[in-house]
Amino acid sequence: MTLTLIYSFLAGFSELFGLLGYHAWSVLGKVAGESSSILNISVLLGVLNGLLLFVVRNKVNVAKPMHYFGYGLVSVAISILLDYFGLIPGLRIGGFIFLLFAAVLYLQNGSFEELSKSPVLWLVIACLAPLVYVPVGLILLSLVQFEFKKSRQLLLNFALFQMPLSILAVVNEMLSFEVIEAVDAVSVALAYLSACLGVYVAFFGILKFISIRRSDILKQLLTGLGCFVLFVTSRYGDVTKDLKSYALNFSSMGTICELTIWATNKSDAERILLKSRELMDSIEERLSTYKPKSELSILNKTAHLKPVACEPVLWENLQLAKAAYEVSNGAFDVTIGPLVKLWGVKRKRSELPSKDEIAAAKELVGFSKLIIDEENRTVKFPKEGFKIDFGALTKGWAVDKIAGYLAQESISQGLINLGGNIYCLAEAPPKKDSYKIGIKNPLKPEKLHMTVGLLGQGVATSGNYEQFTMIDGKRFTHIIDPRTGYPVNTADGVSVIYPSAAWCDILSTAIFVEGEPLIEELIKTYRSLNIWLVKKPESGEVINKTYGELWRDLPNPPLE
Ligand code: FAD
Ligand code: MG
Repeated sequence: MTLTLIYSFLAGFSELFGLLGYHAWSVLGKVAGESSSILNISVLLGVLNGLLLFVVRNKVNVAKPMHYFGYGLVSVAISILLDYFGLIPGLRIGGFIFLLFAAVLYLQNGSFEELSKSPVLWLVIACLAPLVYVPVGLILLSLVQFEFKKSRQLLLNFALFQMPLSILAVVNEMLSFEVIEAVDAVSVALAYLSACLGVYVAFFGILKFISIRRSDILKQLLTGLGCFVLFVTSRYGDVTKDLKSYALNFSSMGTICELTIWATNKSDAERILLKSRELMDSIEERLSTYKPKSELSILNKTAHLKPVACEPVLWENLQLAKAAYEVSNGAFDVTIGPLVKLWGVKRKRSELPSKDEIAAAKELVGFSKLIIDEENRTVKFPKEGFKIDFGALTKGWAVDKIAGYLAQESISQGLINLGGNIYCLAEAPPKKDSYKIGIKNPLKPEKLHMTVGLLGQGVATSGNYEQFTMIDGKRFTHIIDPRTGYPVNTADGVSVIYPSAAWCDILSTAIFVEGEPLIEELIKTYRSLNIWLVKKPESGEVINKTYGELWRDLPNPPLE
């Protein structure tokens, strides 16, 4: 806490009046990442403030302290309105832009009336000041005779004006902290106040030592330059850019999606989590075979009649499915639908399908039989009964999509877990070196077998311990070899770790079908691929093998 206060004071000290609200806000950690848009927004708000002051110019005598307070309230109202429309938490901007040219007006010995007679000059100030407000504002200020007594009065007026902003900023911060973090809110409030103190001390110091006369052009320029340097450096005094974790769990694609991100700004984090959920929901809406009106369900129903055009999301998944089919020598085949339906793992069929039924379903399977028009992005089924099932690909693909969206929002720390399809962002969570992911023992799924530390990697596991059906006392998994038409029994569990969640999803299924020959092939081509294969044969040794760099320093304990 003390460090926060010291930093905040120093940051505040290096800040200059007029940016008080802005700096306090950044100390409150609100502005992190937004400062880039600050200039254009401050122009907007500066003009808004300028226009407003222009309109009320005859009603408000800025020489009167209480009028500052009144205008402070008006400025807060403008900022809340903008905040409400999500323009920008602009409490700080409205505030200090006004401070700046109110100071100019006031230090013109309150010749508000005179100045307001030349509206053009005045409006120019209102628009110009926010552009590069610190040096410009300060040079404008320095054009007037700084008198110490007046400056002190000015500061008190600033404080009065600033009060509504300060109260609101601190209340805003307090409200946004959960009760458990009330201590944080106190330290942030104290940080805020020490930043203000730092600004006031800086203001007095600068004024005291450089009382500027109209003629001292060089001094004025140096003042502006010095202030600009101070303003820029004060950015580095932000100490409360605490990263906090924010999580959102929701059901999606027949499982639970757990999103966790680390961010400095609560409202941003919540917005990003909700947006991620919308993205996930929109993918499910399009590609779920459990939704009769989804784009994929409609394609499955109609693509035997005529070529069906694919929207980008579906097309991307189809292209990925094609690559997966080729990489896995046909073991991974999204046209698997008729066989999945026949073996009905979900509806727990109780007797074995007949050989004829399997042969008939196999007729309706085979990615190479699809008629795909790359040009027009259409797909046609050779006959009725084909059914595309993205069950082993889209979850991983969707996780990558969310990771891509988080990167767009400059979120670099986070974890996405869609029913075991996991992606860890590239930067570790605060005070950690990686994301610790537990991998179950497929022979005893209630137990964790190992924990891997990942960064910028996905992980997926295909196993026969969650989705299977028992027929005549034998376990049949939900993963089927499209070439034989039978559920495979090559492995009990396959875990894949790779920088793409989609390919983890695909390869865990493909290797589950194809086994070690495919691993040998893949591990030669894909350098950053890591695989763990477990198989407990009816008789003999349990296969408990790892492939790839990751396992070099990670013990793979024997399986009990
Ligand atoms: P994985 O090994 O990743 O995939 C196995 C699944 O892939 C099988 O279930 C089958 O669908 C398919 N498959 C089998 N063999 C092969 C093969 N050789 N090649 C390619 N694919 C094969 N489940 C629900 O219960 N309710 C839902 O509402 C629901 N909605 C979903 C919506 C979407 C968009 C997606 C992608 C999945 C949805 N699911 C839903 C889950 C889906 O039905 C599968 O059970 C799930 O994706 C299996 O994933 P896994 O990681 O357990 O196994
Ligand atoms: Mg999978």
